[in-house]
Amino acid sequence: MADTGKDEQWCANHPDKEVTVHDENCEQLLCDKCGRSEEHSGHRIEPISRAARISRQKILLVLPELERSFPGINTCIDNTEVVSGRLG
Ligand SMILES: [Zn+2]
Ligand SMILES: [Zn+2]
Repeated sequence: MADTGKDEQWCANHPDKEVTVHDENCEQLLCDKCGRSEEHSGHRIEPISRAARISRQKILLVLPELERSFPGINTCIDNTEVVSGRLG
């Protein structure tokens, strides 16, 4: 049974490789091979898990503003946390 809950993304240059890093200079998701390539040497490469954490911190920062515009969004974020908790 395929794990459909996980949203896997594949490298644009290597369709058989899953992306594992985020290039902050190119604002692109890359596989480990691309992340180490000369094309991206010197670029700010972060593991995706950390990039995802930073995005979540950004969400938490803008949350009060979002709550004003979209009442109930807190519930959505809670659900997201439950899901990501299950995925580990
Ligand atoms: Zn690649
Ligand atoms: Zn790059």
